[in-house]
Amino acid sequence: MWKGPPTGSHCVDSSLVPHVYSFDHKHRRSPMEYKDLLGGKGANLAEMTSVLKLPVPPGFTISTDACRAYMKGGWPAGLTDEIAKQVTKLEKAMGRTLGDASDPLLVSVRSGAKFSMPGMMDTVLNLGLNDASVKGLAAVTSNERFAYDSYRRFIAMYGRIVLGVDGEHFEHPLEAAKSAANAKTDAELSAKVLKELCQLYKKVVREQTGKPFPQDPTKQLRGAVEAVFASWNGARAIAYRVRERISHELGTAVNVQAMVFGNRDELSGTGVGFTRNAATGENKPYGDFLINAQGEDVVAGIRNTETLEDLKRHFPKIHAELIDIFDRLERHYRDMCDTEFTIEQGKLWMLQTRVGKRTGAAALKMAVDMTKGTKGKAKWKISKQEALMRVAADHLDQVLHPQFSGRGVVLAKGLAASPGAAVGKVYFTADDAADADERGEQVILVRSETSPEDVHGMMVSQGILTARGGLVSHAAVVARGWGTPAIVGADMVKIEGKQFTVGDIVVKEGDIISLDGTTGEVVLGEMKLEAAEPPIEFTIILEWADQVRKGKLAVRANADTGEDAANARELGAEGIGLCRTEHMFLAPDRLPVVREMILADTVADEEASMSELGRVQQIDFEEILEAMDGLPVTIRLLDPPLHEFLPSIEELKIKQATAGLSAREDKELKAAEDWAEHNPMIGTRGVRLGVVKPGLYAMQVKALLAAAAVLRQKGKNPIVEVMIPLTVTREELALARSWVQTEIDDALKGMKKKPDITIGTMIETPRAALCADEIAEEADFFSFGTNDLTQMTFGFSRDDVESRMMPAYLEQGLLKRNPFETIDQNGVGELVRIAAERGRSVKKNLKLGVCGEHGGDPESIQLFYDAGLDYVSCSPFRVPIARLAAAQAIITRSGAGGKFETK
Ligand code: PEP
Ligand code: MG
Repeated sequence: MWKGPPTGSHCVDSSLVPHVYSFDHKHRRSPMEYKDLLGGKGANLAEMTSVLKLPVPPGFTISTDACRAYMKGGWPAGLTDEIAKQVTKLEKAMGRTLGDASDPLLVSVRSGAKFSMPGMMDTVLNLGLNDASVKGLAAVTSNERFAYDSYRRFIAMYGRIVLGVDGEHFEHPLEAAKSAANAKTDAELSAKVLKELCQLYKKVVREQTGKPFPQDPTKQLRGAVEAVFASWNGARAIAYRVRERISHELGTAVNVQAMVFGNRDELSGTGVGFTRNAATGENKPYGDFLINAQGEDVVAGIRNTETLEDLKRHFPKIHAELIDIFDRLERHYRDMCDTEFTIEQGKLWMLQTRVGKRTGAAALKMAVDMTKGTKGKAKWKISKQEALMRVAADHLDQVLHPQFSGRGVVLAKGLAASPGAAVGKVYFTADDAADADERGEQVILVRSETSPEDVHGMMVSQGILTARGGLVSHAAVVARGWGTPAIVGADMVKIEGKQFTVGDIVVKEGDIISLDGTTGEVVLGEMKLEAAEPPIEFTIILEWADQVRKGKLAVRANADTGEDAANARELGAEGIGLCRTEHMFLAPDRLPVVREMILADTVADEEASMSELGRVQQIDFEEILEAMDGLPVTIRLLDPPLHEFLPSIEELKIKQATAGLSAREDKELKAAEDWAEHNPMIGTRGVRLGVVKPGLYAMQVKALLAAAAVLRQKGKNPIVEVMIPLTVTREELALARSWVQTEIDDALKGMKKKPDITIGTMIETPRAALCADEIAEEADFFSFGTNDLTQMTFGFSRDDVESRMMPAYLEQGLLKRNPFETIDQNGVGELVRIAAERGRSVKKNLKLGVCGEHGGDPESIQLFYDAGLDYVSCSPFRVPIARLAAAQAIITRSGAGGKFETK
């Protein structure tokens, strides 16, 4: 889901509205609805404080507006005063002041963007400590060790995050102090040693920054707030946003909150709790907890955590209070929540809550369970439509594909092109991969990029890795179609002969690597995999989705073989939206015949090879039509430039210069040179090929109709739609249509009850979209080829731009999204809308579909539904995702999905 720029607060003169809101601020609506302004964490803190009245340490939120203003023009006017007012209010509420030498108030300063970005931005704890207040803290807690431990942590954290001092400068003195004191952990260091460490740390700050460590808490606070603002544009945060598709424009809020300490004594502690099990979905609270510890100790895994059952044993009353809060949170948010809590000297504090992240299996189980309702006094349940909105594409992906069962050391990253995990031995050519497969090995094919000639190697591979190419490159499209895990465009992978390097690491032929096509991560060595076993809720949710979209938006699959078609039908496809017939030409037994046809010197030779091709195509068509019996099957006539079926000129030339060429190879070289084009993607392909190679399309249609006839004889019901690729004018389509119609008339001659065979075209160029009214005169249907439409509209080569240019564009915010992945709403999307409207202005019932990769992308599906399309078509493995996304698009427009976000 595209998490676009904030609405509402965005267009107001930001100097006129407050930039800072206390957690108990009386907002006009529920604070949860102000996530744009307060960030997720701030909105939830305000919700817990002002609506749920939970025990939350008081504090305030500096808004995302302030961050955006800061990014534009520096520290906003008036912000200092607003913060000062809120600090005074906080001090009053706590009965302590910042920097006080007898009983100081300490605060935490944390980032909190609209969408959670865990660990990506900065946090400063214990702010307000200085040389004077540390003594006050020691006195009031009667714990000098605790006070100086807090101070040295603060100096180091502030030094690193706000003052930019390299963390190593703090690590060394700490390690030295530990070894001098013979201490294994920090906890064994005495108050005296910690006090000395504070001195050393301050010296480090002075040496590294040329200034003393700031003692004034107001200055400390200003520095920390600025650092959190600035961390929004840190490299880690930018990379995370690109991956998670979060807009760079949102900015972060900053939460300043009174510190409570879980490390005060044995009556204190800290933990994280989930209202249900986030891994399995089981309806039972789950949590990790530590006595006498700080939050980071729980996450860091230094000490073994205890469970909520243990918490019950240690502090039964607090446990009961926490479970009651969990109940209230679930009822309020109507979803599973995760929380952070701290117990300070026997009192429970809630530090954070949010609708919790969950695994795919848990998301499905929770969504279904919650429709059944809860027991007890205050019952609540969600509707089926809300349940559908709770499940995301990633959740379905997770349960459909094998995954790594642990984490490995990542060797390289590329584009996550086809989900699922794979392990195998590395091979660098399709032939070597095929040989290895014959020997019974598991294979990972590693190529710079793949081409139709590699298909036999790709077919046998567990996974595919390419150094070049984007999400609609040959490797990506083919792999997705087969459900083979693939990573493309991993440009740090340098292939040289039969090895590749990433930095200093060399991976040779036969070495084992693991691929995670869901994250784009390449891991050296063998990772353990978990098999995919979709839970029962997977089927339930998809059945509900089908009920919602029935008659409104169908889902078809892009499939080129009977096997793929059967698989797609199993996954819920309601027909085929795109059968790329060229894929049938690429099988090892077909390619030589295709070449014969291209090389033919005489008409007779050409006809002979065409008729052989027709024979084999008929077999393929029969299989596909049989698998999709009773459902519509769109067969696209040949589309790619012919040179794609010929060997590479480069390789033939090398051979010519070394071993020499056979007579046949000589001919192939000449043909390859003849058919070579500077810009093949906008050259002789699609319907243009039909024009210059007369007979080609007729042969394909003949084979198709013969296949349909065979099935009808068997009592089946083949439903055929013939699709002409890349037409740009009415005249072109009229001509191509006439070839098809002639074959149809011929084939159906004499039949009493003639089957309805429709003829349509792809809309793949801006002209076709703009002139859709003229083209519609000759078309029974349109299918938007949004891969080419994107390529042609942007002028971005779909094979080249994604590995190099696209990452730079996304990082710099020049493009919000990769338009090959999610449809470009304003440009390509507008063309789709225009074409749909203009097409239907001529033919009211013109059938409309989409078969570009966007047909399987949830956000793009929303646009296709809004544009009035009848169906989306995507690779078989994305069919379940498209079924869900189609239902979600319909629910979104109906407004029945509930108001809380779940992701
Ligand atoms: C398209 O262009 O969107 C399409 C489906 O055709 P292809 O990817 O085969 O060019
Ligand atoms: Mg195309």
